[in-house]
Amino acid sequence: MELSRDAIVEGLREILGPGHVVTDEQELRERSIDNFRKLETIFGVWTLPAPAAVARVGSTEEAAAVLAFAAEHGINVVPRTGGTATEGGLETHVPNSIVLDGGRMNEIIDVDPYNMQATAQCGVPLQVLEDRVRELGLTTGHSPQSKPVAHLGGLVATRSIGQFSTLYGGIEDMVVGLEAVFPGGGVTRIKNVPRRAAGPDIRHVVIGNEGALCFITEVTVKLFPYLPENNTFLGWTLGSMKSGFEVLREVMVAGYKPSVARLYDPGDGSIHFSHFAGEDDCVLLFMAEGNAGIARATAEGIAEIVARRPECTPVDSGLIEAWFNDLTWGPDKITREDERIRTTRNVNRTTEISADWSSVHDIYEAAIARIRSEIPDITILGGHSSHSYINGTNMYFNYFYDLVDCGPEEEVTKYYLPIIAVICEETLRCGGSIVHHHGIGKARAPWAKDEYGSSYWMLEALKGAFDPAGIMNKGTIIPA
Ligand SMILES: Cc1cc2nc3c(=O)[nH]c(=O)nc-3n(C[C@H](O)[C@H](O)[C@H](O)COP(=O)(O)OP(=O)(O)OC[C@H]3O[C@@H](n4cnc5c(N)ncnc54)[C@H](O)[C@@H]3O)c2cc1C
Repeated sequence: MELSRDAIVEGLREILGPGHVVTDEQELRERSIDNFRKLETIFGVWTLPAPAAVARVGSTEEAAAVLAFAAEHGINVVPRTGGTATEGGLETHVPNSIVLDGGRMNEIIDVDPYNMQATAQCGVPLQVLEDRVRELGLTTGHSPQSKPVAHLGGLVATRSIGQFSTLYGGIEDMVVGLEAVFPGGGVTRIKNVPRRAAGPDIRHVVIGNEGALCFITEVTVKLFPYLPENNTFLGWTLGSMKSGFEVLREVMVAGYKPSVARLYDPGDGSIHFSHFAGEDDCVLLFMAEGNAGIARATAEGIAEIVARRPECTPVDSGLIEAWFNDLTWGPDKITREDERIRTTRNVNRTTEISADWSSVHDIYEAAIARIRSEIPDITILGGHSSHSYINGTNMYFNYFYDLVDCGPEEEVTKYYLPIIAVICEETLRCGGSIVHHHGIGKARAPWAKDEYGSSYWMLEALKGAFDPAGIMNKGTIIPA
């Protein structure tokens, strides 16, 4: 029999004690959404059912007990750590859901500079881990713009990526082992080793599961030497995205590994670079880092490649460095942006995809043209590529619109989802992936079948095997 809201709260209090079961109405409303519907928090309008409670677990055992309780009673569970999700993964569409919050699991368990790895609980903010390892002259190499606020559990659950990905990779290249709790309460540990060939690599069932298969409790990531004194910044302006993609491709194919390799179009560039770039200019920028010899050779190699392109005009590297130093988003910047939206009703949104070198420019052009012609009230429209590979790159669309003739609660259906639809359609038409790093959440789940194609059954089989009662984050990745 379905448990009442009060009975769910009572059951959780028995497991965690009353102090760690949140039932405050305002907090529950705020926990019903994430940044996908951030206007609901900014304007105080709520459209989704509030969860029954937030269960603030303090240990793997408590997480296991909550998941056993949820499985026994068929209660939907929405895992949460830093709360910076952008794609609706934290939304509680199912009435009387439990939000399983790992924020109290915030212990750095081990930093091992000899084996170059660190182990931390899911609720450790990445910035805290990074600050700790920097004291030893090391870095995690992971630097998403949400680094000050996102936690390790969520970062692994979403397959996140950082600004230095071209050198260090995405989180999937950094995680060497982990611990997770599955529905029903079973605790699973995948040991820490440099590589394994003992069958399929089951880390990848957990990495990117977005809380739809299990709850990640502990993570071990690689460490690298931190040598900021060798950081070298390079920048150019140029007239077209097409030749910008060509330069990026050439750098990647030549085997250089700058930590940062980015290309901005004039629309997106106007937000960051109007103090040195003209209004029709694209901006191409790189950062080389690491050991002095490697950083020098990387910067010289890139400069040689760009020097063969007369359309590229060099930019003072100090300007690139200054811009780069202000790239992350801490709580103050997020609050200022929310206030800007509240007072101006001008909303900034982003959507990221990936594609091979042959397709990325076509997707970029087609999506930008369609958004411009199909979506009303756009004030800024553009994009950049920020993560490149030998076989392709990502495109991060960045767009602003005014809310016209609609309430903040209608923003998602009037503007945001139609833009996402255009970007997904154009990406799928050209064979790209509709999600490069934010996770599919609930927002892009309607396109999951098209994204996976003939391998979609494998995704459904995973869900059926690991979450047979369907209690884990219903509607996330696999549409409800
Ligand atoms: C300003 C800003 C900048 C951002 N920049 C980047 C960026 O540069 N790169 C990037 O990749 N992303 C970026 N993001 C997106 C977001 O920060 C990432 O997706 C991040 O990985 C989420 O981590 P979190 O701890 O906040 O997770 P949450 O928001 O709490 O959760 C995210 C998802 O993971 C699930 N989840 C959370 N914890 C667990 C767990 N312990 N076990 C299982 N599932 C769990 C949730 O159910 C949800 O589906 C940005 C977001 C913002 C708001």
